[in-house]
Amino acid sequence: MTVTAPAVVSARNLCLTYKTNDGPVHALSNVDLDIERGEFVSFIGPSGCGKTTFLRVIADLETKTSGEITVNGMSPQEARSARAYGYVFQSAALYPWRTIEKNVALPLEIMGYPAAERQKRIADALALVNLSGFEQKFPWQLSGGMQQRASIARALAFDADLLLMDEPFGALDEIVRDHLNGELLKLWSATGKTICFVTHSIPEAVYLSTKIVVMSPRPGRVTDIITSTLPRERPLDIRETPEFLEIAHRVREGLRAGHSYDG
Ligand code: ADP
Ligand code: MG
Repeated sequence: MTVTAPAVVSARNLCLTYKTNDGPVHALSNVDLDIERGEFVSFIGPSGCGKTTFLRVIADLETKTSGEITVNGMSPQEARSARAYGYVFQSAALYPWRTIEKNVALPLEIMGYPAAERQKRIADALALVNLSGFEQKFPWQLSGGMQQRASIARALAFDADLLLMDEPFGALDEIVRDHLNGELLKLWSATGKTICFVTHSIPEAVYLSTKIVVMSPRPGRVTDIITSTLPRERPLDIRETPEFLEIAHRVREGLRAGHSYDG
């Protein structure tokens, strides 16, 4: 008998409906998805298709209406208590009155890590995002890209196996974004983490992912799941290869198919 590790995320028939004054909003409808250890999974789709909601269900910040979801084989609530994930938001959400080091330290302080352990984790996390030497700077002394790297360091500080990233580079210009995409791939390969990454950008999704989940709104649902044929080692110019363009084409088709739903 072979013993296989549980999927990092497994969703079956997952539904989430928000109750609002204007009636129910079907943010997630019958989502089936497995994310294996070490995968880099991107979620792409227009605004309102449930990308953020899906990450929030994984993180136990929203509760499913029906269906099944497990995180590392546990309920999201158990996974949350086990600190199974780090969360990176669209805006860096750093406290302006705290230095970079103190920002990264905050969740560790809240969770009661001893000072020496905290120092080590902060140093390791900042090294992973190439911010060693910036410990004593304040967020406003850093560029937007560096601030976002600091917020990634904060999410890495627990050393959770799963990283949830909700449009982390959405507000950055394309050159900075290219650079951070390359850095993120290096970080992923160095740490072996599982990454769930929300984006609006087709090239970003194709460049980064081992699996691309195409979603569409009203109701929020998955319209296509694409397993990438690209090698894990990816120089930036891989974006001009036929394989890359073929995957991008399939993502675009999936997005278009989702749109026709609106009529
Ligand atoms: P995305 O991240 O893909 O833009 P969201 O997951 O944020 O989509 O939202 C999916 C749908 O659920 C949208 O129609 C949004 O307006 C709605 N929604 C999100 N959060 C709430 C909430 N807390 N209460 C009511 N409706 C919500
Ligand atoms: Mg969102």
